[in-house]
Amino acid sequence: MPFRVLVIGGGIGGLTLAQGLRRSGVSVALYERDRAKDDRLQGYRIHITPKGCRALHDCLPPELYDRFVATSGKPNTTLGFYDDQMRKLLVIGDANAPEHYIDSFKSVSRISLREVLLSGLEDVVNFGKTFTGYEPLPGGRVRAHFEDGTHADGDLLVAADGVNSRVREQFLPQAKRLDTGALSVSAKVPLDEETRSLLPPQLFAGSGFLFGPQGKTVFMAAHEFRSRSSVAREPADGLLMDNTSDYIMWNLVTTWERLGDRDKLERMDGAELRQVAFEATEGWSPRLHELIARSDLGSISIFPLKTSTPVDGWETGNITLIGDAIHNMPPTAGVGANTAILDARLLSRNLVEYTKGTMSLVEAVGGYEAEMRDYAFKAVALAMRNLKMGVSAGSLQRAFTKTLFRFFDAVPPIRERMTATMMK
Ligand SMILES: Cc1cc2nc3c(=O)[nH]c(=O)nc-3n(C[C@H](O)[C@H](O)[C@H](O)COP(=O)(O)OP(=O)(O)OC[C@H]3O[C@@H](n4cnc5c(N)ncnc54)[C@H](O)[C@@H]3O)c2cc1C
Repeated sequence: MPFRVLVIGGGIGGLTLAQGLRRSGVSVALYERDRAKDDRLQGYRIHITPKGCRALHDCLPPELYDRFVATSGKPNTTLGFYDDQMRKLLVIGDANAPEHYIDSFKSVSRISLREVLLSGLEDVVNFGKTFTGYEPLPGGRVRAHFEDGTHADGDLLVAADGVNSRVREQFLPQAKRLDTGALSVSAKVPLDEETRSLLPPQLFAGSGFLFGPQGKTVFMAAHEFRSRSSVAREPADGLLMDNTSDYIMWNLVTTWERLGDRDKLERMDGAELRQVAFEATEGWSPRLHELIARSDLGSISIFPLKTSTPVDGWETGNITLIGDAIHNMPPTAGVGANTAILDARLLSRNLVEYTKGTMSLVEAVGGYEAEMRDYAFKAVALAMRNLKMGVSAGSLQRAFTKTLFRFFDAVPPIRERMTATMMK
């Protein structure tokens, strides 16, 4: 029997892994709890870094990578930092940088990305299969059980089942997720001539942070489609699921204690959350308030920001984990999905070496795990550092950060070095 990989979870990481293995001729089956490919579609965009693009390029067949590029939004080449009045502190990157097929940032709708990643995997992906647990089988094999009473057998079980991973719960019960005490309120605003005029022009070449007082930060990004996905959602559904209309996204990040009663906040509807955002940003730029006022109410949501903590090495066997299942992080570095894509490429490369006989299974899986723990928990630390900077309340510290940003902006060599780091 050929070596067979079972992947639990058909999100960004699991699907990229299935594509990478499939492309290299390794036998793979993926099990996803959703019943169909457009169940629970999320409408927001995702930002893929040059490194993430390269890993996708390595895993996807050329025609699918082409589709990924074609369905991405207009280039995202800068990152800006502003004060609460939208005055520029620092902008890194180059707004006029030519777009590169691989080595440039890409902003893509989650719906379109999922559609691309699912293409050609009709005989690999099994929908409506909720994983409930696994058991070891004789001969080093493993059996996955599903809620509908069925099971599947394979040689390696890969957890790609996201933040509340059932595989992790059974395999690494010591790996915990922590509540950071912070939250995000986010929304989409239709992008038209009026809303465009509300934002600093640099923001349309990338994304930006507005640093406010009292530990509040607003992240903003515009998404302008170049071509429409074939699973276009009608605007009549509201902007949340719409992947046809251009929009601006805003994201207020702060701590629960600064906004009030958490239970009450989590039960609020769009209009109430919009009011919360108005009050939280009292005294900030009137242009920001105008933008918040124009938010699509159905797209406004609030969610807690959680994180994983570094896990010590474990004994390598025939169960492993990729993506949020092992290294969930707050979205404050914009690299959670990118890290899941890197995991998928590294694991698929190592498994191909195993099937060629150049590595043992323990070397292939253990090598992946050691490398992943290193880069992934560095990414978690970066996301936590950014989160802490965004919600730190000390006025002295915030004033110092702003001064530092203005200084960096005024010194081109420093800005260029920061740009080079950002592009890695
Ligand atoms: C607001 C926000 C913005 C973000 N922006 C960015 C960004 O710009 N760039 C970036 O890199 N990252 C971003 N992230 C992070 C990114 O979304 C995640 O890191 C990424 O989706 C993780 O991919 P994954 O495949 O590990 O998990 P997921 O994409 O969550 O996929 C897990 C899959 O497993 C399935 N599943 C779960 N349980 C079971 C089960 N028991 N049985 C079977 N299937 C199961 C789920 O249905 C799901 O399809 C953002 C996150 C948030 C919340």
